[in-house]
Amino acid sequence: MNRSDISNAQNTPPTDAQQRRAAKPVICYDVDCLPAYDAQLYQQARQTMEKVAEVMVAPRDAASFHVPAGHFCRIVSVEGPQVGDLNLWNATDLSERFYSGKTRQLHASHVTTGDRLWSNLPNLRPLATITHDTLDWYGWDADGAGIHDVIGTRCDPYTNNLLKGLDYHHCCHSNLTRALAKHQALPLSEAEAHVHDVLNVFMCTGFTRDTHQYFMKASPVRPGDFIEFFAEIDLLGALSACPGGDCGSSHSDDSTPCYPLLVEIYQPAEGALCDWQSPPTNGYRGQHGL
Ligand SMILES: [Zn+2]
Repeated sequence: MNRSDISNAQNTPPTDAQQRRAAKPVICYDVDCLPAYDAQLYQQARQTMEKVAEVMVAPRDAASFHVPAGHFCRIVSVEGPQVGDLNLWNATDLSERFYSGKTRQLHASHVTTGDRLWSNLPNLRPLATITHDTLDWYGWDADGAGIHDVIGTRCDPYTNNLLKGLDYHHCCHSNLTRALAKHQALPLSEAEAHVHDVLNVFMCTGFTRDTHQYFMKASPVRPGDFIEFFAEIDLLGALSACPGGDCGSSHSDDSTPCYPLLVEIYQPAEGALCDWQSPPTNGYRGQHGL
């Protein structure tokens, strides 16, 4: 059926259809119960931080990096508008990793300062807290789009093969797989199993209003813009500079101008984090009713 036209529906609306549709939306999770974002703590620590490492991510490629617990990490736009696909793991246990779906449910379809990047079940704890976002002014545009998407998965060679019948080897999924394989000295197939749904850094996306299809549009990011997060635990990260460039036209090919992305690691001064501690793993003990 044409997704924009419900007149093709095979079932006629029931007599009380209007009433059923008029049910009020309810926010699924009581987000006021989440651990509060302690702006003062993070902002105070940022004032004292000094850069201790940096990694340049080449266009259409990925690189890995380590962010020790209690450090800050910045992903910086350099040279030109570029989207990045970010994976995060517990540096000492790759089975704990970023959970974009629950992050989306707990915060929103796009994340910014004060939002947490949560880990998968059964851990479900903040891996990172976003502490600065130079694109926070963008908000939601007239198309309903926002920045730093946790809706999309990552461009990958399988979907590309399905749609175009072509093999392209520099999709974010492959870039992240190569970067992790290199960092962990793993065979590609083992590394690939650890690659997961990403935070689409700087990506501008939404759902079309008429058909609710996922769309992208040119990212408003410009050189000098950055998103910064605080590592709540020891993190291994991998970042791909997406072959889609600013994701304003295509992806999964070499047709779009692409630019590097810079990853910077900052250490706050001793004592600047007061009595901050890494969050514990989730309190549920996995009984599942037995
Ligand atoms: Zn990509």
